[in-house]
Parts: sequence; structure tokens; C-alpha cells
Amino acid sequence: MDLGISGKRALVTASSKGLGLGCAEALAEAGCNLVMNARGAEALEAAAARIRERWGVEVTTVACDVTTAEGQKQVLDSAGQPDILVTNAGGPPPGMWTDWDRDDFIAALDANMLTPIALMKACVPAMMERGWGRVVNITSVSVKAPVPVLGLSNSARAGLTGYVAGTSRQVAGKGVTINNLLPGIHATDRADALDKGVVEKEGISFDEARANRQATIPAGRYGTPEEFGQACAFLCSVHAGFIVGQNVLLDGGATNLSM
Ligand code: NAP
Repeated sequence: MDLGISGKRALVTASSKGLGLGCAEALAEAGCNLVMNARGAEALEAAAARIRERWGVEVTTVACDVTTAEGQKQVLDSAGQPDILVTNAGGPPPGMWTDWDRDDFIAALDANMLTPIALMKACVPAMMERGWGRVVNITSVSVKAPVPVLGLSNSARAGLTGYVAGTSRQVAGKGVTINNLLPGIHATDRADALDKGVVEKEGISFDEARANRQATIPAGRYGTPEEFGQACAFLCSVHAGFIVGQNVLLDGGATNLSM
């Protein structure tokens, strides 16, 4: 399917690896020129070089922490006024409800709520003026089914989801759609880290931890960054203009929300 976005400019934050990289790749496949970001320059440059080589699009890299005001300024200075914005950042650490104090909550809110909001506030006005724009925020299954050990993530992403619910409906009339993509368990470094946490906590092997988690997914496997990226690219396509303010769950059926 021609997604109709060849030549558009897309900013994808936190995109040297994992789900952000999956989104960057799929947008490049659709012909978008990219601004990619991550803190570590080495993996970022390697990913950008692979994408340029494979898809022949322009890729600008910005190595910085996007959860800081300075980092946001750097990516926005580089991106100019993108047609497509995909927001992403690392997820907060797991723990017990008693583990976290105010500073931990502020860090989680900065990373997973206030950063995407700042990026949207910077990019959406020009999209509205041009009469076309797409925003996809990478959030989490925890928005629909909060994960007990991810209290910081549950809290911050719930805040972002509420903001998007209202904002998406305020901008839709100008041709700009904002939606959230909710990953269930996907095979990335983040999933490895969570599996290693289970290994330490339960004293089982990594393979056992993975097999146990896979058994909770009706699809019988983890999702891939590639298929996650393709879903993102579709939401960014010309065909998705009537999809507004949705929380789209990609979890292999793990969350049973029948209604
Ligand atoms: P990942 O494999 O660990 O990749 C994270 C990417 O983000 C890397 O490119 C990393 O590069 C970059 N990054 C992290 N913090 C950053 C920051 N402050 N500024 C700029 N770049 C940053 O993670 P993932 O699995 O793709 O997860 C992406 C998001 O989805 C996370 O918020 C995660 O919590 C959420 N999620 C993932 C899953 C899953 O199963 N994978 C499930 C639910 C939710 P650098 O480290 O070099 O900065």
C-alpha cells in the first residue's frame, strides 16, 4: 500500500533502537526524511547510516537526552517544522509502590508525559497552519491494563493519555491527528531488561523467564519492532485521517478487553 507520505519530514525521538527505530525504519520505507534522536551517538549514527543506505532518504541525527529542555530544543532546532512527530523515550524503572519519592515521579513525568507534550506543543501549531499533520506517541499497554511493578510508568502515561484525549479533538479539524500506540511485550532491550529483573527476583533462567512471559500472550510470542513500526507508519499515513485520539494496543491479545 502506498502510504502517501513520501517526501514528508518526520521527527522520531528515542529511535536508535527498539520500537522507536522500528517506527523510523517504517517511515523511511514510506519515503519520509527523518530526524532521529537518542542519547548514545554510536548506535544512533549506525542506525541512521543503515536507514540512509537501505531506503535512500535523508536522515539527520541529534544525540541528546530528549527528556531535558535543552535536548528538546536541540531536536526541535534540527527538525524545523516536521509533518510527522513520533514521540518516544525510555521507560521508568520497575519497583514497589513504596520505592518512589517525589524526584522519581518528577523524572517519570518529565520523560513520559511532559516531554511528548512539549514536543506536540512545539510541532502541532505549524501542522495546523499547513492543514496536515500526524502525531503518534509511544506509550504502553499499562495505559489500559496497569502493570503492578511499573507504577511510575502507569502514572506518567495515564497523564499523557488524558492530555491527548482532549488535545487530539481540539486539533482534528485542522487535519492533524494525534494517536497513541500502546506496546505490549515486544522483543527489545527494554523487554530483555524486564526479563532479567524476573530472573533475579525469581531465581529462574532467562529462557524460563521469557517462556513464562510468552505463555501469557495468546499470539505465543513477543511482538517485533518491525511490525510495531508498520502500525505507526499506517497511523502517519494519508489513509488514517479519520483515526483521532485513539489508544491502539499492540499486544498479541494479551490484554483481554472485550468491550
Ligand atoms: P529500548 O529498546 O530500550 O530502546 C529505547 C530507545 O530510546 C533507544 O534508542 C535509547 O537510546 C532511546 N532513549 C532512551 N532514553 C532516551 C532519552 N532520554 N533521550 C533520547 N533517547 C532515549 O526501549 P523500547 O522497548 O523500544 O521501548 C520504547 C518505549 O516503549 C519505552 O518508553 C518503554 O517503556 C515502552 N514500552 C516498551 C515495551 C516493550 O515490550 N518493549 C512495552 C511497553 C512499553 P539511548 O539509550 O542511546 O538514549
